[in-house]
Amino acid sequence: MNNMLRFIPLSRFYPIITLMVAALICSHYQSACAQTAVRQHQIMPRNSKTVRMLSVGDILLAGPMEKLMSTKGMDFPFKAMSPLFKKSDLVFANLECCISDCGEPVPKKYNFRARPERAEVLSRSGISIVSMANNHAWDFGRAALLQTKQLVEKSGVITVGAGANRTEAHSLRIVLRRGIRIGFLAYLGLFPAVVPESDTEPCLAMGDFESVRREVSAARKLVDVLIVSLHCGIENAPKPSPHQIALAHSMIDSGADLVVGHHPHVIQRTEVYHGKTICYSLGNFAFSTTGRGSGQMLEATMSRGTPVQVKLIRLDLSGGQPHIPRFNQK
Ligand SMILES: [Zn+2]
Repeated sequence: MNNMLRFIPLSRFYPIITLMVAALICSHYQSACAQTAVRQHQIMPRNSKTVRMLSVGDILLAGPMEKLMSTKGMDFPFKAMSPLFKKSDLVFANLECCISDCGEPVPKKYNFRARPERAEVLSRSGISIVSMANNHAWDFGRAALLQTKQLVEKSGVITVGAGANRTEAHSLRIVLRRGIRIGFLAYLGLFPAVVPESDTEPCLAMGDFESVRREVSAARKLVDVLIVSLHCGIENAPKPSPHQIALAHSMIDSGADLVVGHHPHVIQRTEVYHGKTICYSLGNFAFSTTGRGSGQMLEATMSRGTPVQVKLIRLDLSGGQPHIPRFNQK
C-alpha cells in the first residue's frame, strides 16, 4: 500500500494543489479586505464627529419659477446642486413662498403661492430643513401658512420659524447628525408684521430683540451647535442695515454659533463677530428665472466644542438653475 502511494505521479495531485492555492489566495484576499474594513472603521469615527451643512438663500416655487418648472420639469431649478446637497449631512434653505391651495392674498405688493404638489421637490433635491420666517410665507394668510408647513414636513423636510401658534413658531428645532445636536431657530426681522403673531392662530416667528435674546440663550443650553436664521435687511442693498447688524449681534451675544441671513436678494458681507460668523445675506437661490440678484452657498463644518468653520461659494443663478461656476469648482 505504501509502495503504491510512493509511485503515484505528482500530476495526479495538480487539481488538489490548484484548489489549495486558490483557497490560500482567497483567504489572503479576504484578510486584506478585512484589514481595509478595519482601517475604514478606524477612520470613520474621526469623520463622524464632523457635520457638513450647506445653506442657500431664497427659494421660490411660484410666479416665474412655477412657469419654469411647468415647462422644464419640477426638478429643473435644483438639478445642478442636488447631487452636492445629497452628499451633505444637512441642507438649510429659505422657503420664500407659501405652498397651498387655500387662502386669499393678504394686502401687499407681491403674493407668492405654489401648488401643493410642489412641496415634494425640496426633499427630492436633498434639502433637509427650511426657514419659513420670511415675508412671503404668509402671502395667503394663516391657513395657507399652516398648510405650507404641513405639506413641507409631510414630504420629509423640517420647517423652522412658523407654526400653528406663537409658541410653535418660535420653537427650537433640533437635528441630530453624527451624535451632534444641531439647533435651529428662525426669525423674520421686518416690522411691522403683516400677519400679527397670535397665541392661538398660525403665525411666523418675529425677531424682536427681547424674544431673540430669551430664546437664543435658552436654546444654547440644549444643543451642541446653534444656528439662527435671520430674514432681514433691505432688498437689493449691498450692505446690511444697522437694524440687521444689531439683531445679528444680539443673536451671537445670546449664544448663537452661526447666523445665516437672507432677504436682500443680493449677497452681503460676512462678519466674524466674537469669533462667530454672521453671513448677512446669502442672496437668492432658486428664485428668479432671469438671474436677478446674486447668491452664494455657505458650507459650514461643525463639531462639538469648536467654532463653526465657514466657507462661502459664489453661485451662478442664470437660467433659473443655480450652479457653481466652473472657475469656482474644486
Ligand atoms: Zn424676503
